[in-house]
Amino acid sequence: MYDCIIIGAGPAGMTSAIYLLRANKKILLLESSSYGGQIINASNIENYPGYESISGFELATNMYNQVKKLGGEIKYETVIRVNEDKTVVTNKDTYQATSVIIATGAQNRKLNLPNEKEFIGKGVSYCATCDGNFFKNKIVAVNGGGNTALEDALYLSELAKEVYLIHRRDEFRGDNKYLDEIKAKDNIKLILNSNIISINGNERLESITIKNNSEEETTIEINGLFIAIGQEPKNEIFNNVVDLENGYIKTIDDVHTKTKGIYVAGDTRTKELRQLTTAVSDGSIAASIAIKEMKGDN
Ligand code: NAP
Repeated sequence: MYDCIIIGAGPAGMTSAIYLLRANKKILLLESSSYGGQIINASNIENYPGYESISGFELATNMYNQVKKLGGEIKYETVIRVNEDKTVVTNKDTYQATSVIIATGAQNRKLNLPNEKEFIGKGVSYCATCDGNFFKNKIVAVNGGGNTALEDALYLSELAKEVYLIHRRDEFRGDNKYLDEIKAKDNIKLILNSNIISINGNERLESITIKNNSEEETTIEINGLFIAIGQEPKNEIFNNVVDLENGYIKTIDDVHTKTKGIYVAGDTRTKELRQLTTAVSDGSIAASIAIKEMKGDN
C-alpha cells in the first residue's frame, strides 16, 4: 500500500516525488520509458531559474538522483488503467495507493504520414540530440517552427553537411535568438509555407516530397528527417477517472481532477503555459495537496 503512486518520471512527477518523500510518504514512481520526460533531449535549457544554462539530461539526472537519495522507489512499467479506488494496473502488476498523481506529460506529435512509423530508426527521428550523430556530413531536414525545431536545426548544422528547416508557415513560433543564429548559418536552408506530404525510400529514407502554399510539389533528397512539430498528450487510458479537454486532463483548482485523490501535474493537464517551470510548480502543488488531503484536513 502506497501513500501515493506517481505516474510519469518527468520534471512534474519527480518534483511530486521529492515533496512526498520529504514528508515521509511512501511513494511509487511509475515510468514507461526513461526518467526525465521531454527535457531529457533538450541540449540546452536557459529558462530554468538557478541555471544560466544546463543540458536537459543533466538537469533530469539531478532530479532523478534527488529522488533516489530520498529513498524513492521507481519502477519501469507501463500503466494500463487507474481505478477510482486508486488501484493502478500496469503491464506487470497491480498496486494500491491512497492517492495518485498523473504526470504523464506529452508525446512527440507525429506527421501521421502512411509510412512514417516504418521509417523510424531508418532515417526518421523525433530526437536530434539522440540521433544526430548518425548523420555526420549527410543531408537532413527538420520539420517544425517551435523552439525544438530551431534548436534541432542549429544542433544538426554542426554535424550534417546541409540542413533544411521546413515549416508550414512564414513565421516561426520559436525564439528570435535561435532564429538569428539560424540565419547566420550557411548550411541551414529555410523552406517556409510548406508541408511534408510524403516520406520516400525503400529500405531507408531517401527523400521527402513537400507541397507549398501554391500547391507546388518538390522532392528533396535527404538522409535524415527530424520531426519536431510539438507534443500531444495520451490520456485516453485515464478516461474513467478524469475528464479530457482536447486530450488534456481537465483540472479543477490547479491540480484536482474530478476524482477525489487523483491529481494531475505538468504538461498533460489543461493549463495556460507548458514549461519546465510550470511542470515543477504543478508537481509541488499536487504533492502538497495530496499530503494535506491524505490527512483529511482539506
Ligand atoms: P511547439 O512550440 O508546440 O511548436 C510546434 C511547431 O510544430 C509549431 O511551429 C507548429 O506550427 C508545428 N506543427 C504542429 N503540428 C504540425 C503538423 N501537423 N505539421 C507541420 N507542423 C506542425 O513545440 P516545441 O517546439 O516542441 O516546444 C514545446 C515547448 O517547449 C515550447 O513551449 C517551447 O518554447 C519549449 N522549448 C524550449 C526550449 C528551450 O528553452 N531551450 C527548447 C525546446 C522547446 P504552427 O506554428 O503553425 O502552429
